[in-house]
Amino acid sequence: MKMDRRAPDTLWRATAGTKPVFGRLDGKAEVEVAVVGGGFTGLSAALHLARRGVEVLLLEAHEIGWGASGRNAGFVVPNFSKADPAAVVARLGREKGTQLLNLVGRGGERVFELAREGGLGRQAEQNGWLQPAHSTAVADALRRRVEAWQALGRPVHWIDAAETAGRTGMDIYHGALADSSGGMINPLAYAWALARAAIAAGARIVEDAAVTDASQTGAGWQLQTHQGAVRARKVLLCTNAEAEGAAVRLSRQIIPLTVYQIATEPLAKALTDRFSPRREPVSDTRANIFTFRLDADNRLISGGMAIVPLAAERRMAARIARRLARELHLPEVPRVAHVWRGTAAVTTDFLPHIYRFGPGFLGATGCNGRGVAMTTMLGEVLADAATGTALEELPVPVSEPASIPFRTVARAAPSAFLVQGMWNDWRTTRRTAAKALNTPTLKGENP
Ligand SMILES: Cc1cc2nc3c(=O)[nH]c(=O)nc-3n(C[C@H](O)[C@H](O)[C@H](O)COP(=O)(O)OP(=O)(O)OC[C@H]3O[C@@H](n4cnc5c(N)ncnc54)[C@H](O)[C@@H]3O)c2cc1C
Repeated sequence: MKMDRRAPDTLWRATAGTKPVFGRLDGKAEVEVAVVGGGFTGLSAALHLARRGVEVLLLEAHEIGWGASGRNAGFVVPNFSKADPAAVVARLGREKGTQLLNLVGRGGERVFELAREGGLGRQAEQNGWLQPAHSTAVADALRRRVEAWQALGRPVHWIDAAETAGRTGMDIYHGALADSSGGMINPLAYAWALARAAIAAGARIVEDAAVTDASQTGAGWQLQTHQGAVRARKVLLCTNAEAEGAAVRLSRQIIPLTVYQIATEPLAKALTDRFSPRREPVSDTRANIFTFRLDADNRLISGGMAIVPLAAERRMAARIARRLARELHLPEVPRVAHVWRGTAAVTTDFLPHIYRFGPGFLGATGCNGRGVAMTTMLGEVLADAATGTALEELPVPVSEPASIPFRTVARAAPSAFLVQGMWNDWRTTRRTAAKALNTPTLKGENP
C-alpha cells in the first residue's frame, strides 16, 4: 500500500502542544533492541525497555504519531472490537484466553496512569466508555459480556435504556455496557508523552528514518535507513497497518481499513450537556457504527467508513456531520473544523497477535480499531519478550507469519461488510419498531 505523505489535518496536531525534539541517527548505531515504528506499540515497548535498563533505539519513518496513533479518535476502550470474553476463551483456551482478557481489561487504567505521568491534564479524561445496544438481541449479548467482564473483576456494568438515553441524549438504545476504566485522550499528546518518558528513561528516538530493509547477521539484525545502518540483537516491528520497507512483512498479516474522522468547531456547553452530561465517549453496536466524544474544548469528534474509500474526505466529513446532527438532535449540522483519515489494522480473528519473523525478531499488531489501550499493553508485552520472557508465556497469541490468502480481494471485504451491515442496521431498526408492535423478530445480529 502506498503511503500518503501529507501531514494529516488532525485536531490533535492543532491541540497537542509542543512537539518534543528528537535526534538523528547520523551514521551507524549498534544497540540491544531496535524498535521500528513510533506509534503507541513501539513507544510503549521502547519506554518499558528503557525503564528496565535496556539499550533501545526507536526508528520512525515519518514523525512520532504519524500512523494510526496520531490519527485515531482517542477513545480509550479496554475491550475488543468484536470478540466476547467467552469467544476469546473458546478460541485460546481458558488459561491463555484469561491472560489476554486480563491484559486487555487493564489497558484503560494503564493508559491513564501513563497519561497522568506525562502531565496530559485536560487532554486525558478517565470518565468511562459507553457501548449502547441498538437491538434487544444485541442487548442480551452485551449483558452476558458485562457478566463475563465482572467475573474477571473489571469495573463494567449494564445500564438500562432510560439511563442510556439520559447519558447519550438518544432514545433508540436498549441499554448499554458501561466501563468506568475507559475514557478519552488526545492521542498525539499521549504519543508525545510516551516518547518523552522513553527518552527520559534512556531510549533514543529518531524520526524520518524509514527502515527499508532488515537482514539477519551473525549475532542479530542489520536495519537499513537513509540516515545510516543499525545493528541490533533484537528487533521489534511495531508498524501496524503501514506497509513501507521492512514493515511489509507485518502488513501482510492484516487487512487495512480506512477510517475517516472529523472534529467540529467547539459547541456550547448547554448543548453538549443535553447529550453528554458525563462527557463519556460513546461507540454503539451498529455495523455502521455511530461514535461520538467531546474534546477538552467541547468539540464533537466522530468518524465513519466509506463504501468507496477513494478521495472521500470531503464527502465523508459532510456525511458524518449530518449524522451527528440527526442522531444527537442538534439544532443544526455542526461546522467541521478538521477532517482526516487513517488506516486501522484488522486481523481475521479480530484478536491481537505477536508474530515471529526470525530469531529475536518479533512484530505485533491486530488492534482492530480498539488499539489505544491494547497497543499500550502490547508494547509492554513485546518488552517482556525482548527481555527474556518465553514466547509461550506471553499473554498474547504468538503466530508464525502467514500472508492472508487472497489478501488483495480481502481488502475489499470491509466495504462489502459495511454495505451488508448498513442493510442489517436498517432491518434491525425496522425490527425494533416491529417488536414494539409485538410482531415476530429476526435473527442474526453481531454485537
Ligand atoms: C482513524 C482511526 C481511528 C481510530 N480510533 C480509535 C479509537 O478511538 N480508540 C482506539 O482504541 N483505537 C482506535 N484506532 C486504532 C488505534 O489508533 C491503533 O490500533 C493504534 O494507534 C495502533 O498503534 P501502533 O503503534 O501499532 O501503530 P501506528 O500508530 O500505526 O504506528 C506505526 C508507525 O510505524 C511507522 N512505520 C511504518 N513503516 C515503517 C518503517 N519501514 N520504518 C520505520 N517506521 C515505520 C509509521 O510511520 C507509524 O508511525 C483508530 C484507528 C484509526 C485509523
